[in-house]
Amino acid sequence: MGVPTRPRVAVHKFSSCDGCQLAFLNLGEDLLALAERVELVHFAEAGPLDPDAEADVAFVEGSVSTPADLERIQRIRRHSRMLIAIGACATAGGIQALRNGADGAQWAAQIYSHPAAVASLERSTPISSHVAVDFELWGCPVSGPQILAVVNSLLLGVAPRDDADKVCSECKRRNFACVMVSRGIPCMGPVTRAGCGALCPGLGRDCYGCYGPAENANTDALAAQFGRQGLDPSAIARRFRSINSQAPAFLAAADKARMQRDE
Ligand code: SF4
Ligand code: SF4
Ligand code: SF4
Repeated sequence: MGVPTRPRVAVHKFSSCDGCQLAFLNLGEDLLALAERVELVHFAEAGPLDPDAEADVAFVEGSVSTPADLERIQRIRRHSRMLIAIGACATAGGIQALRNGADGAQWAAQIYSHPAAVASLERSTPISSHVAVDFELWGCPVSGPQILAVVNSLLLGVAPRDDADKVCSECKRRNFACVMVSRGIPCMGPVTRAGCGALCPGLGRDCYGCYGPAENANTDALAAQFGRQGLDPSAIARRFRSINSQAPAFLAAADKARMQRDE
C-alpha cells in the first residue's frame, strides 16, 4: 500500500457529470496544499493533461458506458499502480445505469433525431466490472474531506479507511432529529453507507441513498417499514432503484418490491 513521498496522481473522467471531480476542485486551499505534496500528472478539469501518464494513484470518476470507455479503462489500469473509483457512477454505474433495466435504444430514439450517432453501450457498468479496483469511494458526489482522508492515508502508507457504517449512525453522532421517527418521512439512511455527515437529515429531509448500500444493509426491514408508512411496492422499488440502482443490495431490494407488485 506504500507510495512514494511525492506520488504521481491522475484524475480520470468516464461517463459522468463531473461532480466528483468538482469535489476535488472545491477543496480550495486544501487542493493547493495537496498539489505541493503530490505530482498531478493528469486532471483535465484542473489543467494537467496527459491521459496516458504513469500514475501511482489514479482516481476514476464515471461509469463505463461507451465502447471508447471499455478500451480506455484497460489502458488506465495498465498505467496505474493503484486505482480508486470515486462516486456512484464509478462504483455502481450511476443514474445512467437506470437504462440497464429498460430499452435504452428506444429512449435514444425518442430523444435524439439521429440516435445512431449516440455511441452508447447497452448497459452502464461500474469500473470494478472491467478492471481490478483497489478502493472505492461512494457518494453522488463524493465528499472533499473523504478524498483528502484517502490521499493522506496513502501518503502515510496505510490503507484508507472504508466507512461502511450507516447514515443513521452519523445522525446519532450529530444529534440530528430522525425525520422518519419525528415526521414520518421515509428515509434510506438505515441502509445507506455513511460518509456525508448525514447531510440531508441535518437539513430536515430524508436520505435518498446516494452513498450506496451500507455493510449488512437490512433492506427487507426497511422495505417493510416503508410499506407501513404507506409506500406501495412500486414506490418502494423506486426508492432502491435510484442513483445506486446497480449496487447488488439495492438492485435485489428493488426487484423484490417489483415482484410483490406483480403478484
Ligand atoms: S457520482 Fe454523481 S456527482 Fe459524481 S460524477 Fe456521477 S453523477 Fe456526477
Ligand atoms: S433521519 Fe434517516 S438517517 Fe437519520 S436516524 Fe432517521 S432514519 Fe436514520
Ligand atoms: S444523507 Fe443520504 S442522500 Fe443525503 S448526501 Fe448523505 S447519503 Fe446522500
